[in-house]
Amino acid sequence: MGETIAIIVGAGRGHRFGGGIPKQYRMLGGVPVLRRTVSAFLSHPDIDAVRPVIHPDDETFFREAVAGLDVLDPVPGGATRQDSVRLGLESIENLATRKVLIHDAARPFVSADVITGVLDGLKSHPGAIPSLPVTDTLKRGVGDLITETVSREGLFCAQTPQGFRYGELMAAHRKAAGLALTDDGAVAEHAGMDVVITPGSEDNFKITTQEDLDKAERMLSNDETRTGLGFDVHQFCPGDSVTICGVEIPFDQSLLGHSDADVGLHAITDAVLGAIGAGDIGMHFPPSDPQWKGEPSDTFLRHAGNLVIERGGSISNVDVTIICEKPKIGPHREIMRVRISEILGVSLDRIGIKGTTTERLGFTGRGEGVAAQAIATVNLPMNE
Ligand code: MG
Repeated sequence: MGETIAIIVGAGRGHRFGGGIPKQYRMLGGVPVLRRTVSAFLSHPDIDAVRPVIHPDDETFFREAVAGLDVLDPVPGGATRQDSVRLGLESIENLATRKVLIHDAARPFVSADVITGVLDGLKSHPGAIPSLPVTDTLKRGVGDLITETVSREGLFCAQTPQGFRYGELMAAHRKAAGLALTDDGAVAEHAGMDVVITPGSEDNFKITTQEDLDKAERMLSNDETRTGLGFDVHQFCPGDSVTICGVEIPFDQSLLGHSDADVGLHAITDAVLGAIGAGDIGMHFPPSDPQWKGEPSDTFLRHAGNLVIERGGSISNVDVTIICEKPKIGPHREIMRVRISEILGVSLDRIGIKGTTTERLGFTGRGEGVAAQAIATVNLPMNE
């Protein structure tokens, strides 16, 4: 399955966060926190698979948050963070794992550089932890009175992902069972493993309080907005159904094309690709390649959506107009919106679908085929 697996630990219910939805499932810039976190690892070239550990009660939140992403099935966590990590480690025992990265679900801004730094550290040491030197002056206090200034010399703030050689960490966790240690670094220390410090990042903070979530939103508000256009046409051919926006509609003809000829999803895919300057659908999925013959077009749109995530961005909205005399789009509009929302992993209110005719004018008016035009709005980090 993969030599290097990331375990995303999100089994906590976030008591410090107050009631409601656990923090790892809260929306951050229109995308669930957990989805951002998981995507950061899925898009890293040296991570082979991602295993989430979740609270058993959060299954529905989880499914919605990662819809369309290529993650392993989640495993239920335990009573403590340490138990949850051990259960995650045990769940990948038969996957030929050589290296494992343990990451907090509530650290969505982990960068590729931080992950790469940890993996580099593992080349020379059995453990690696991204850390930042302590810069604030440290005080010890009793009640509200300071009693002492503590030297910050040699002190670091530990972040995640914490990386380890798999076999050694698994053994260390079994040895530490029941100790309630707060991170895997402590488990590794307890087993006498050497752990190297790798570069952490200020942005890689953990969302623990509402204030943290507000700060995260402010970071995303520095994003810039991009838009892209898409247009597509497919002609009718003999058949008994058409697929538009991922929905098969019974009809007295079909649409002709190399893939499933989904004119709606093709237009949206081109719009998303256009917004991030990533070419067009034919560049990514050449019609000359027999691999894509008859391919359901959700593959193309999912790919475009993943390219946005890889750039650290998010899709703000997509809007598509289907142009034809028949079939009627209105009766299928809501299920189409649901399909697109699932494929892109964005909320339903960010998907617009309209049907229109051309008053019997032109090729669509003569019933020769279906056209679609789409626009996509994407938020990308300013440094892109
Ligand atoms: Mg097409």
